[in-house]
Amino acid sequence: MKNYPDLSTGLTANHETESMNIIMPTPSEKMILPPANIAVLGGGQLGSMLCEAGRRMGYRMIVLSESTDDPAGRWATHHTIGDTRDPDLLRRFAQSVDVLTNEFEQVSPDVLAAAESVLTCRVAPSSLVQKTCRDRRLEKTLFATHNIPHGPFVIVESPDQLPTAYERLSTLNPQSSALSTKPLPVIAKTARGGYDGKGQLWLRSPSDAASAWQQLGAVPLMLEQAVPFIAEISVIIARSPSGALATFPMFRNEHRNGILHQTVIPSGFSAHTELKARAAAEAIATALNVVGLLTIEMFVLENGDVWMNELAARPHNSGHVTNRACTRSQFELHIAAICNLPLPPIAILRPAVMTNLLGDLWTNGQPHWSVLHADPRATLHLYGKTPRPGRKMGHMIHTADTPDAALARANAVFDQLPPPRA
Ligand code: AMP
Repeated sequence: MKNYPDLSTGLTANHETESMNIIMPTPSEKMILPPANIAVLGGGQLGSMLCEAGRRMGYRMIVLSESTDDPAGRWATHHTIGDTRDPDLLRRFAQSVDVLTNEFEQVSPDVLAAAESVLTCRVAPSSLVQKTCRDRRLEKTLFATHNIPHGPFVIVESPDQLPTAYERLSTLNPQSSALSTKPLPVIAKTARGGYDGKGQLWLRSPSDAASAWQQLGAVPLMLEQAVPFIAEISVIIARSPSGALATFPMFRNEHRNGILHQTVIPSGFSAHTELKARAAAEAIATALNVVGLLTIEMFVLENGDVWMNELAARPHNSGHVTNRACTRSQFELHIAAICNLPLPPIAILRPAVMTNLLGDLWTNGQPHWSVLHADPRATLHLYGKTPRPGRKMGHMIHTADTPDAALARANAVFDQLPPPRA
């Protein structure tokens, strides 16, 4: 029995099963098989790794991005240059593909809604999911409505609300109804548009709060009490249109200056913490009806509890570690989920550490790659971008018999990469 994709309609044709009276999945649950066309909105490194995985799995990967220089263009089957904010373009684009997904945070829900009007194309994540995941107000409200643990927060829609919101959070004792004896730090984040620590400000006094509105660009804000976390983790979960879930074991993340520096797997936390993190991820993915990957950044507290921080409905920088550490990469799992292929349980093959390589390493010339190339348990991935301080240029992954050994090796190599000042 042959089951092949009919590219003229985007629907999977299987005429023999119809005559056998088997109930066919509705178009929204159809399995999309190679060589179907998968569109990727955005041309960054997440897109290039998605293209690599999709092409290996037999799909045609069509990238829509704004410049011929975008990294994903080099890995795409076809690269279309265009304005990813143009709903008319998106509508036309969606007519020629079977699935449309995106690889960057700031995709507008409106352009995804335009693509959704083309009923032969599955849009994953949907405009609704995208709307939630790029607005901290909607994310936190989702956690609160579904009783998913998170830290104290207040939404600030106008400058006059800021002093009271700051006062409330800086004195609130999350453990009891009594007020905190000394003011706790509060972080103000733009409700939309911040990433890699941008669009954020720590408030330590009422005068910090008074100037925050202007400093953050006079836009709606999310105010959060400082969470006394002992570690940051992320959980990446995949959900298919039929509702199946597959979750990666959680990763431990270290940030530097608000940017991810390293990701370690296994995370080293107890099974109890892992269960809590996984249960929260499953509850959020199901509540959101997400299709594809959902990444949840979380804080681990001293008592082993986990609190949600933020969401991204796409592959995530921390998930690069899965390329070497797990039975599936995050990119393969995303393709499988958006095409409604069966989702296998995910296991760790070997401990690994992913270290981001930022443009700062290039300040005095090419980094010293020799030590990395000579390392039998390290791999280097460069995205082919022009170096700038703070810009993610690539990453390296070290594997070892234990996470600590991988970390020690990664740190030793990382310290030797910068060339000395001339
Ligand atoms: P975000 O953009 O929300 O991921 O924040 C960037 C980084 O700021 C996080 O990875 C944390 O290191 C830190 N951070 C964010 N929110 C909080 C919070 N409520 N309490 C403590 N640290 C935070």
